[in-house]
Amino acid sequence: MNSKDYQNHQYSLLKKLTNAVEAPLLNTSLTKDTETHIRLLPDSNLTPGLFYPSSLQGIFKAHPQTIQALRKDLWFIEESFLDLNDPAFCSSCSREWDFQFWRLCPFCLKNLEKK
Ligand SMILES: [Zn+2]
Repeated sequence: MNSKDYQNHQYSLLKKLTNAVEAPLLNTSLTKDTETHIRLLPDSNLTPGLFYPSSLQGIFKAHPQTIQALRKDLWFIEESFLDLNDPAFCSSCSREWDFQFWRLCPFCLKNLEKK
């Protein structure tokens, strides 16, 4: 499955999910043409694992490790996606993360484990 197929697969799964009040988590009027792009500017002086707003709309700053560890194919900000929490654990630095957003630990770049 290539990256685009994977995104479409994830999108179709997300459309089927509902939250605790049986409302769709994903606004189904949202089409593939409706995408929000967020740009991340690397800054080595920042704390890994966090995002810092910049003075420009849609642009955040983050430590280069944070950008490297972030999943590139799924990047949701809506609060409703907190319901889809997929707990991950870094056994190297004992920090908890979420597979929804991270493919590696942003602090030490080790592989994450299922919690
Ligand atoms: Zn770690």
